[in-house]
Amino acid sequence: MTPEKIDCLIIGSGPAGYTAAIYASRAGLNPVLYQGSQPGGQLTITTEVDNYPGYPDGISGPEMMINFEKQARRFGTDIRYGMATEVDFTGYPHKVIIDGKKEIEANAVIISTGASAKWLGIDGEERLNGRGVSACAVCDGFFFRGQDVVVVGAGDTAAEEASYLAKLCRKVYLLVRRDEMRASKIMQKRLETLPNIEILWNTETVRLNGEEELESVLVRNNKTGEESVLTATGFFVAIGHKPNTDIFKGYLHMDETGYIQTIKGSSCTNIKGVFACGDAQDNVYRQAVTAAGTGCMAALDAERFLVEREVEVAMEETA
Ligand code: NDP
Repeated sequence: MTPEKIDCLIIGSGPAGYTAAIYASRAGLNPVLYQGSQPGGQLTITTEVDNYPGYPDGISGPEMMINFEKQARRFGTDIRYGMATEVDFTGYPHKVIIDGKKEIEANAVIISTGASAKWLGIDGEERLNGRGVSACAVCDGFFFRGQDVVVVGAGDTAAEEASYLAKLCRKVYLLVRRDEMRASKIMQKRLETLPNIEILWNTETVRLNGEEELESVLVRNNKTGEESVLTATGFFVAIGHKPNTDIFKGYLHMDETGYIQTIKGSSCTNIKGVFACGDAQDNVYRQAVTAAGTGCMAALDAERFLVEREVEVAMEETA
């Protein structure tokens, strides 16, 4: 099958991908955007988004992503269902395979494949997702003001989420599965200064209780085997994220956890014409607004790259 040749391919449909699409369309790059397995990205599994500037009354995550998509379509982005399953960045143009069969050759590729929160996989977690269960305190913590919540994890994210929630909630239980935390010393010290955080050491979650909404959490001490029930309306899983970057391994420089490394102050990767934005390259901020910002950067970098390339090609032809 002959490959489809395009100027600009965007992989992923969160705030980074759609923002890149808006800018790339307006710049006349005729981008094609593949939405991936979760059109709209992580925001489609949150409830209310209250911290994205420009929405004074807040907006639901899914609705916000519909708006992003509409805006990208308005400027002519070719938005398609499908998943990039393989890439070949060894030559030029860049080759990308969609759904294991369709081949695309793109002069510029913008990667906005995001990251996925890791989940515990316990009973009740999926059923109560968005109804008490969350993987983002900054997104959802506000809805649990004055209530009792549980945070699971022992890294910097868990420490940060617990500290953030302690300002809003009446009580925060932090469940740590070992007898020590992996979080930095300074973050751990901070936890000690917050009187409404109670750390439960050697404690694992067994089950989440509640039909329509979370009501309580069954936990077990893995040293003594003793089980107990914590009454809580919020359950925040903070055991890390995994960037969705597996198909780019071997081509792009990444850190040890798979986040794509971009050249400082830009969205450029180590491969010319391949740009990365959003959570696929950010394990620190991970906010919709920062993802959108880097999506804009990627489109501007791609445009600059394509213009320079056109000039080079024209010069070669006249030489
Ligand atoms: P980490 O991988 O650092 O930590 C994950 C934590 O979750 C570990 O403590 C792990 O426990 C625990 N965990 C994993 N699986 C389970 C499970 N099934 N049940 C219970 N606990 C579990 O992820 P983070 O997201 O915390 O951090 C990722 C990176 O981002 C780190 O480099 C971190 O430093 C950085 N970061 C920096 C911040 C900052 O500087 N402000 C803020 C947030 C993150 P165990 O220790 O037992 O393996």
